Amino acid sequence: MLETHILFRDVGQVTYETIEIEKKVLKDDEVRIEPSYYGICGSDLHVLAGKHPFAKPPVVPGHEIAATVVEVGANVTNVKVGDHVTVDPIMACMHCEACLSGRFNLCEPPHVAGFRAPGLARSSSVIPARNAHKAPASLPMNVLAFAEPASCAYHCVHRLPKACLKSVLVIGAGTIGLSIIQGLRIIEAQKIVVVEPDPHKRELAKKYGAIEVYDVGKLPENEKFNGVIDVVSSQATINESFAHLKAGGTVICMGVPAGPHEVPLPRMNRFECDLLSSGMYIPSDIDGAISWLADGKFDTKDLITEIYPVEKAADAFKRAKDGDSIKILIKFKD
Ligand SMILES: [Zn+2]
Ligand SMILES: [Zn+2]
Repeated sequence: MLETHILFRDVGQVTYETIEIEKKVLKDDEVRIEPSYYGICGSDLHVLAGKHPFAKPPVVPGHEIAATVVEVGANVTNVKVGDHVTVDPIMACMHCEACLSGRFNLCEPPHVAGFRAPGLARSSSVIPARNAHKAPASLPMNVLAFAEPASCAYHCVHRLPKACLKSVLVIGAGTIGLSIIQGLRIIEAQKIVVVEPDPHKRELAKKYGAIEVYDVGKLPENEKFNGVIDVVSSQATINESFAHLKAGGTVICMGVPAGPHEVPLPRMNRFECDLLSSGMYIPSDIDGAISWLADGKFDTKDLITEIYPVEKAADAFKRAKDGDSIKILIKFKD
């Protein structure tokens, strides 16, 4: 059969190619899917730049996908042919301690589509049925393509202790930060304040539920919060997080840190300031995110900067690197 896919042929090189491959026969618990949209993630750009720790070009990328089920294995019950699905890209081993407790995001080493596992930016993929999450047919495919970043946000805001929802500071309002702001509003955080350098993203933060937004370095020193979500996780933002945290509060490290950073242990210890992390999501988060999208509570319209046809994949990646772009989608088919 013919397969069309996006390929990072080498560092900085994006191609789109069609090759002849052998058609995989489905196992009993597998499904075949065909994508409509693929969302470009910051981590894909990392791989393309050759800076990702364990995925180096050549790589077929793709972990944010909205697709249709076109074939199901004999034992599959959760989806049927014709269903619209998003894919949990975490290809968990299913038998380690983390997997047995349902925390597939903690399975080591992580096998995530587009990194250690085959990417999903191809005309068809075979995946375990349990990784396919059904969405209502009424949900447009380009909205469903947002389910993966929304799942990251869903997981993150539910990691925050309830008491912290009284006042939350979000540092960084890119795709994930803006998704977190919407998530906090949906779960009824009382006060959301945002720090973000880009004026357009600050404007969106306000639209999505922030009551105050600040440029970097402008947040008044005496403003303190019950919770802080650091979507940048640099040394500077970790410092800022704890500087603005009330006693007994919680900081969540959400951005991917580039290396080890210092934390203010004496204050953390004396005033019970906690540091939590949020890494990807578990299956129930994906279903939660799909319901946010399906209920119309979570906006994607202002988050999708542009949609490119798959033939223009190289242009799409170029655009995704611009500082003002939020989410770029690549369209495989309707
Ligand atoms: Zn991603
Ligand atoms: Zn495992």
